[in-house]
Amino acid sequence: MSGNFLMGKAIDKSMLERGFAIPVHAQEIFSFHLSGGKLSHGEKRTIKIFFDGEFFEVKLSCSNFNREKYSTHSEQWQILYSKNSPIAKKIREIFSAGKKFFTLYATDLKDVFFMEPKISCDETTLENLLDLSTLTDPQAALLEKFGLTKYRKLNRKIGEQLKKNYNFRCQICGRSIGEFYGVNLAECHHIEPFAESLNNDAANLLIVCPNHHRIIHIAEPTFDRERKIYLYPNGSIESLKLNDHL
Ligand SMILES: [Zn+2]
Ligand SMILES: [Zn+2]
Repeated sequence: MSGNFLMGKAIDKSMLERGFAIPVHAQEIFSFHLSGGKLSHGEKRTIKIFFDGEFFEVKLSCSNFNREKYSTHSEQWQILYSKNSPIAKKIREIFSAGKKFFTLYATDLKDVFFMEPKISCDETTLENLLDLSTLTDPQAALLEKFGLTKYRKLNRKIGEQLKKNYNFRCQICGRSIGEFYGVNLAECHHIEPFAESLNNDAANLLIVCPNHHRIIHIAEPTFDRERKIYLYPNGSIESLKLNDHL
């Protein structure tokens, strides 16, 4: 299947109810698999998606935005369906079962595409994928598969800069636990889970040591932005020792 890969994406609310965007870079290859070729501005066509053993009709739409007003904008392609359509129901059914990603492939038939849910990829795995310091080659392929390359590029810049700003120290305990060994072990944590928010801004990142990172994901404390503290379910409170950016 991987040879026909078109796109991959994390599931968001829009996907569960009305559709999803096709990345600009995938429009060209998408066109190749359409009987009518590339969509013109404002055009809508019906295509089929094979998903979980069934065919579903959806609209492939090229947004009709005002080209004079937004002359520099790329064409915006979307797959659209209504909230009560069979495919929307199927998507909600499948993706409530812990699957958080899907991938879309072309098939041998024009106008027919194949959608596959991906096993749930937990937040820690995702963050590792986005984190430059922990990225190895096999993971890069995984990243590509999930369509997360652009986020990683962003994370590389933002995350690495933040780590440097904190001199690779943990914002919670203030320590650089790798220092004694001559290595940098700081990691980026997403305050709002990345899988849900896709928010990779500095305002959503916290620089933490591997121990605190583990603890946060297992204990699941709440972050109080006003007071800059973590509130743990057992009543423990931890304030940030270092903070220049939140
Ligand atoms: Zn720490
Ligand atoms: Zn994290």
